[in-house]
Amino acid sequence: MIKAPIEQILEKIAKLSNTSIEEVKRKVEAKKALFSGLISDEGAAQIVASELGVSFQEKELQIIDLLSGMKKVNVSGKIIAIDPIRKFVRGGKELEVASFEIADSTGSIKVVVWDTKHIELLKKEIIKEGSVIEIKKADVKGIATKELHLTSSSEIVLSDKKIETIVRTNNKKISKISELRKNENALIRATVVQLFNPSFFNVCPECSMKTTFENDKTLCIKHGLVIPKKRIILSGIADDGSANVRILFFHEAALKFLAESIENLQNPEIIIEKKQKILGTEYIFAGRMRKNALFDREEFVVNDFSEVNPEEIIKELSKKNAF
Ligand SMILES: [Zn+2]
Repeated sequence: MIKAPIEQILEKIAKLSNTSIEEVKRKVEAKKALFSGLISDEGAAQIVASELGVSFQEKELQIIDLLSGMKKVNVSGKIIAIDPIRKFVRGGKELEVASFEIADSTGSIKVVVWDTKHIELLKKEIIKEGSVIEIKKADVKGIATKELHLTSSSEIVLSDKKIETIVRTNNKKISKISELRKNENALIRATVVQLFNPSFFNVCPECSMKTTFENDKTLCIKHGLVIPKKRIILSGIADDGSANVRILFFHEAALKFLAESIENLQNPEIIIEKKQKILGTEYIFAGRMRKNALFDREEFVVNDFSEVNPEEIIKELSKKNAF
């Protein structure tokens, strides 16, 4: 493992990306600010490097430094738990996905493998609980919970490194919908079984209160005549097998979930397309249960989400005939 002092890392990023060292430092500081100081200099440098197209493949990271969006990272850890191998059918083919958790002295993370050669390592118990492994060229995914995803070009090798102290940080509990309590912040893992047409409304640009429309004029009760801002609300039903729940996405969350601009979302054809993509898809939703007094029902207000089996990984692997 190369333990380069941060100055050397920054110099290397600058050199490899043809950027000045000052510019690299500025980007690293901006990245640290963006993550509210939750990442180390090295973690921030890694993200800046990948954004500048610089690969850091020989630099091994600690689990605490792994951040969603990083690509081709190297990390070592001790396997502390293995999930049962799951089978699923895509495009008429039966595929398998395996997952396990690794930990080092800084934290733990779930590792997801799709490639048969990696799944074989588990089946043949070449790697098992207690094994210390080195993972090369894995991608960090997930928003609600971080995951390390391996592709067919990733590697898993047994390591002779000793990992004595481990810290578990990836044990954020996924709640069953049937057990959600009011006002509780929770993570749920559920499939979207219904998605309603989004509703649009206008708000005052100054106070964000709903505006009214009278005699061709948009009025705010406080600010009088205004040019309104358009807002969107999206709702649907998610089911995790224990129960179903109404899920609600306010403006920013709705735009992020639908991955489309508010202008395009007013086109009914685009809404149909989005529904086709989202219905039947499993997500991890982070949010909060609340009571909607008006309709006398409970709703889960989503503030973040990540897809459970990202389509693109399956597509990428299918292309390479990995299965
Ligand atoms: Zn107003």
